[in-house]
Amino acid sequence: MKAIQISQTGGPETLQFRDDVEAPSPSDDQVLVAVDVAGVNYIDTYYREGIYHAATPFTPGQEGTGRVLHDPRGEIAEGTLVAWMDAFGSYAEQVCVPRDRLVAVPEGIDPHTAGTMLLQGITAHYLIYGVHDLQEGESCLITAGAGGVGLLATQMAAAKGARVYSVVSTEEKAELAREAGASAVFYYSDELAEQVRRHNGGVGVDVVYDGVGQATFSESLEVVRPRGIVCLFGAASGPVEPLDPQLLNTHGSIFLTRPSTGAYTAGEGEFAMRAQAVTQGIVEGTLKFRIGGVYPLAEAAQAHRDLQERKTTGSVVLQVS
Ligand code: NDP
Repeated sequence: MKAIQISQTGGPETLQFRDDVEAPSPSDDQVLVAVDVAGVNYIDTYYREGIYHAATPFTPGQEGTGRVLHDPRGEIAEGTLVAWMDAFGSYAEQVCVPRDRLVAVPEGIDPHTAGTMLLQGITAHYLIYGVHDLQEGESCLITAGAGGVGLLATQMAAAKGARVYSVVSTEEKAELAREAGASAVFYYSDELAEQVRRHNGGVGVDVVYDGVGQATFSESLEVVRPRGIVCLFGAASGPVEPLDPQLLNTHGSIFLTRPSTGAYTAGEGEFAMRAQAVTQGIVEGTLKFRIGGVYPLAEAAQAHRDLQERKTTGSVVLQVS
């Protein structure tokens, strides 16, 4: 089958398009699907670079949409349109999906949105409802506010009546963040914390959602209010250095968390609950996905380049078939 394969981890050029990759075979707790669209996520770049480990050769990718080819238990009919996450190897014509990580795609959701809605949508959902159940009148800061997760988290936080301060790198991204519901938008700077506090009545924000990591982390500690939460959920600019817990004291008894989708979908029915909230939001029009880039499968390397060079906005997908 056609697939992207990585034989040696490294830069985007290691994403090799091949037409001779052996199709996978599902175990009893998996379902084999034919992939129409695969989502491109920042985590895919961590695997490609070897920051997260996978044995080589491997096919990257975590999520997508397509039709069921074979369910070894015979529970899901062949041809059912599904979307999934946590299926490693989704940059391919076929992938085995854990049966507890797929959903039927409701009518009215377009294939590009379906291909990227679960990983980023569920992440945004657990950030805004799970890490802390953000309340009306609370304030938060979201870094990379015009990115895939950023635009979704902004919409969800704004819909709950929270004040969202968004951090972005360009005027175009600032406009997108505003459209998503940010009440004020800032550019990255060493004075970010001071600027945000000034805007927030002189006090720090209740929660910081930082998916940028290394470049923004020290400002994230500065901008949170005493006893507030710094939620470090990614490392788009590189991983944060190890830190002395005493820093949490000197910044006002703040909380630091480094969450994952795994932990926030592990509870009984939790994946289904978050997936349902995301798909319902899309169908009802209250949650909008911006598809900022569609690339043919063979051009996965270019998709990664654009994502890492900060050229993309919203969500990025690969058209597989
Ligand atoms: P994005 O679409 O947000 O793309 C990354 C964005 O990060 C860029 O567009 C850019 O926006 C910003 N950025 C800031 N500094 C840099 C830098 N030095 N290099 C590259 N980008 C930079 O990606 P995703 O929505 O896929 O992911 C966002 C973050 O969320 C990632 O860190 C990812 O790992 C994390 N994540 C975490 C999950 C979890 O459960 N913990 C699950 C899913 C995603 P700008 O130009 O505006 O700065």
